[in-house]
Amino acid sequence: MKFLTNLGLYLHIPFCNGKCAYCDFYSAFTNEELVDSYVTALIREIKQWGGKINRPIDTIYLGGGTPSLLNHRLGPLLSAVYKSFSVLDNAEITLEVNPADNILEILQNAKKAGINRISIGAQSGDDTELLILGRRHTVADTENAVRIARELGFSNISLDLMLGLPDSSCDTLRGSLDFITSLNPEHISAYILKIEEKTKFYKQRETLNLPDDDKVSDQYLFMCEYLENKGFCHYEISNFCKGNTQSRHNLKYWKCEEYLGLGPSAHSYLFGKRFYYPRDLKSFIKGITPTPDGEGGDLSEKIMLALRLKDGIKTESLPTAAIRKCELFAQNGLGILENGSFSLTNSGMLLSNTIITEILEEF
Ligand code: SF4
Repeated sequence: MKFLTNLGLYLHIPFCNGKCAYCDFYSAFTNEELVDSYVTALIREIKQWGGKINRPIDTIYLGGGTPSLLNHRLGPLLSAVYKSFSVLDNAEITLEVNPADNILEILQNAKKAGINRISIGAQSGDDTELLILGRRHTVADTENAVRIARELGFSNISLDLMLGLPDSSCDTLRGSLDFITSLNPEHISAYILKIEEKTKFYKQRETLNLPDDDKVSDQYLFMCEYLENKGFCHYEISNFCKGNTQSRHNLKYWKCEEYLGLGPSAHSYLFGKRFYYPRDLKSFIKGITPTPDGEGGDLSEKIMLALRLKDGIKTESLPTAAIRKCELFAQNGLGILENGSFSLTNSGMLLSNTIITEILEEF
């Protein structure tokens, strides 16, 4: 009999009070009536799925959009989860927070609702950059959010940071890193800006003074070294942590473990199958069923995901020709091949897509 692991639960909250210039996540403008209808629909799905699944939940992640906008609705929403599923006592329960909003009340409600991990969208330590990104918050708002979270007793705080921004350089990034690390977060997620279609930045792409690929690579390598020198463990391409504070929920994605995602655009991997809810808020509220998205968890997918992680992959699962490629990458400083494992160096992580494709070609 296949051993069934604990499950992760993702709840997508598709509302924002504005649209950032770079963002293509699925979200609608906040409208209190619509938010109420959505939460009712989400609770309906939580109850339905809770009746079908008899697996303990050990991570819950409220992402978005801007889930912190739920504020007083966080309690009823999470109560529905606790009643419908068997949530383990030590479950990691994360809330993504926009520091622009009514942070004291939101964090008080989050604490009461059982949230124990806060992920704050800091993005930069420079107000001009935040303005260019179309963020609604300032550097002082981030500082304030972290201070209040600490005062309320949150001991697991993650901060988001972006690199490769318009007009940026290693020097400007250093300023943001100084700011972010001065707040002593347990965890940092750092993403390279990608210009996605249907965003404001896409329309402005010819006039944005974006650093070229080489300069963005320099920023990434500079950041990795900076954070490693500050005692952070670079445990995934874009993620750094102190001690044992890896994002347990996101580790499930990278380790190909199962999770249930509820809400428009949310993806699931459950009972060996992938499925998702379409990016359509109204149809979700009406009760649309998720769309099947094939099988998941084959060897190539596992390798692709595992190579994102510092621990990498066990070479015993690789064909000889793929191991030879790993040796070549290691000789060129892009990978580390030792003790029966292959993992990527910081430089290798920058080329992870190419490296993964080349390894998978040998299967
Ligand atoms: S707050 Fe987050 S989800 Fe909303 S528009 Fe900005 S980046 Fe996108």
